[in-house]
Amino acid sequence: MIGLVGDTESLNPELIQQISPAIEQVLRVKKPFKRASLEFRYGEPSEVVVSTPNGLVTFGQNHPLVTVAGPCSVENEDMILETAQIVKASGAQFLRGGAYKPRSSPYAFQGHGESALGLLALAREATGLGIITEVMDAADLAAVVAVADVVQIGARNMQNFSLLKKLGNIGKPVLLKRGLSATIEEWLMSAEYILAAGNPDVILCERGVRTFDAKYTRNTLDLSVIPVLRSLTHLPIMIDPSHATGKSELVPSMAAAAIAAGTDSLMIEVHPTPAKALSDGPQSLTLPDFQHLMLEVDTIAKFFGRGKPCPYATALPKVSYATNFAIV
Ligand code: PEP
Ligand code: MN
Repeated sequence: MIGLVGDTESLNPELIQQISPAIEQVLRVKKPFKRASLEFRYGEPSEVVVSTPNGLVTFGQNHPLVTVAGPCSVENEDMILETAQIVKASGAQFLRGGAYKPRSSPYAFQGHGESALGLLALAREATGLGIITEVMDAADLAAVVAVADVVQIGARNMQNFSLLKKLGNIGKPVLLKRGLSATIEEWLMSAEYILAAGNPDVILCERGVRTFDAKYTRNTLDLSVIPVLRSLTHLPIMIDPSHATGKSELVPSMAAAAIAAGTDSLMIEVHPTPAKALSDGPQSLTLPDFQHLMLEVDTIAKFFGRGKPCPYATALPKVSYATNFAIV
């Protein structure tokens, strides 16, 4: 497949078709996001394959659900290692955790920076989990890439175009979070920046958008993006119910709904002692609550054809499912 990008208005698709019998079809991609468009891949979903110490993990529509979990921030060695062990034992594939934190207040905890990257590397070594962590500044890109298996671009940097352009040759997939008030098209255009820079591995993460009511939920989780994105793009999708709702008690229902709506992956914030977390405690699940949720996630994912055998599930205590799903 060859993509022509640029001012192609004057090109005649029929004439191009006649150049050679080897050309099967010439399609004009009318969307402003060319490489991110579904047409660009002939309607085929793309896969983002990540090599973790525990093995290859594939994000994509025809693959089992992938789960990413961990604290908002990497706070110290004990908490990240304890969290990583439970995240792994629960059957998730990736550990998340911020070393560089985008905070609304300059006085709030900003993340431990490079030393936190070292702790993530330790947790990777101890558990074999893949690591997802955020880069905020191009100056830290090399240090983040050295540790991360997937590099996260946070909601607040979704339109940091100079940063996006630098992600072309990092050799690691990019998790692109949707901006707080970004339209779907703006989001896809940001993905286009990364693809155009030369990095084909982009995962789109919906994390809630700003609406008129932020009293009972931190943001509004836009689950309708899942079918909308399916009609527009080949890129894999992740849903983050933690930042979307801001409340740990709302996370399980939204995680379940996201799986039902067809998400390819989930990102869940967890913490050994959420009440003491240095950031995003109210939306972080305790480790036992996360283990419980993962049993539900496993059941629901299987129901929707996105399950996989979880070698750890049987080792956990039996819990009764408080879901409305009938497994037939
Ligand atoms: C995060 O994942 O910790 C984070 C800061 O998320 P967002 O960029 O979606 O606010
Ligand atoms: Mn957070």
